Amino acid sequence: MTEKKKIAIIGGGISGLSALHFIRYRYPESCDVRLYEKDSRLGGTIGTDRINGFVSDWGSNGFLNKVPLTLQMVSELGLDDMLYPAHPSAEKRFIYRNKKLHEIHASPPKFMRSQILTVGGRMRLAMEPFIPKKKDDSDESIFDFAKRRIGRDAAEHMIVPMVSGVYGGDAHKLSLEACFPIMVEMEREYGSLFKALLAKKKAGSKAGPAGPSGRLTSFKNGLATIIETMHDKYRDFIVTGRGVMKIARNGDKYTLEFDSGSPEIFDAVICAAPAYAATDMVAGMDKEMSEVLGSIPYTSIA
Ligand SMILES: Cc1cc2nc3c(=O)[nH]c(=O)nc-3n(C[C@H](O)[C@H](O)[C@H](O)COP(=O)(O)OP(=O)(O)OC[C@H]3O[C@@H](n4cnc5c(N)ncnc54)[C@H](O)[C@@H]3O)c2cc1C
Repeated sequence: MTEKKKIAIIGGGISGLSALHFIRYRYPESCDVRLYEKDSRLGGTIGTDRINGFVSDWGSNGFLNKVPLTLQMVSELGLDDMLYPAHPSAEKRFIYRNKKLHEIHASPPKFMRSQILTVGGRMRLAMEPFIPKKKDDSDESIFDFAKRRIGRDAAEHMIVPMVSGVYGGDAHKLSLEACFPIMVEMEREYGSLFKALLAKKKAGSKAGPAGPSGRLTSFKNGLATIIETMHDKYRDFIVTGRGVMKIARNGDKYTLEFDSGSPEIFDAVICAAPAYAATDMVAGMDKEMSEVLGSIPYTSIA
């Protein structure tokens, strides 16, 4: 019989727990896995408060129910009955401008009558089908793309808030290709976003400009339900309150050093801690990897 592979997972947020589920669910016999979380609680940026019958998520509040792997994991964890799609009224989106909330209308005539953009901004937006497509394949920021195609007013007052809502990031710095590859394709293939949307509508696709459509979905008792379920199911494979300080390579094995207790040796390591935490862990093992990890910016959205 071949020896079990010893695998360490660093970080008990949804990424680390999903990796643990994947390994335990598919390879229970061939892998000996341990997840290390430095905090006393699991979940990372996901957490739910339940107070006086009210449920309040203080990090992520849902996921799109069209991503097959997420739904597969939900099913494997026996949580299908707990799924809780957002009410259709929550699909309304508003943008705050000039001390007023403006609803974003999907219907073009209604949108053109709304005051989200200035009259000039709306006219510039309507010119989008006539703006020539980009000549080269180089990447650009989401903001530069939006300014080029739909004008500065729409870029500043629609795209910037939308991007900070979805990514908690800066549209001037985020790569269009990384965040919205579908937009790059739409421009390349159809020469215009409006033309692409019309073509997709005719073809019956429900894909929106930001990617696959789907309903924002959570669980009846909040998003932490999935974290708590995995904690209960995989309790024996999880160590909380133990942070990883260092990963060192010895031949084809890895040694983990912790903030408490003795080092341990593994065949493989999955690091699901934030990049700024991982940068120190790998500094002694791989300087280049550490520098790349350290260069990844994180923004505060508080
Ligand atoms: C306010 C907010 C709202 C969001 N809303 C949504 C949403 O609605 N939908 C959506 O899909 N996404 C949303 N996101 C993004 C989503 O929450 C994150 O992408 C996701 O939870 C990240 O999970 P993760 O496991 O990769 O990282 P984290 O949740 O950051 O987990 C990393 C874990 O690693 C641990 N760790 C760090 N250092 C060490 C160490 N040295 N040793 C051991 N463990 C360590 C940390 O304690 C933490 O538990 C939101 C994020 C925020 C902040």
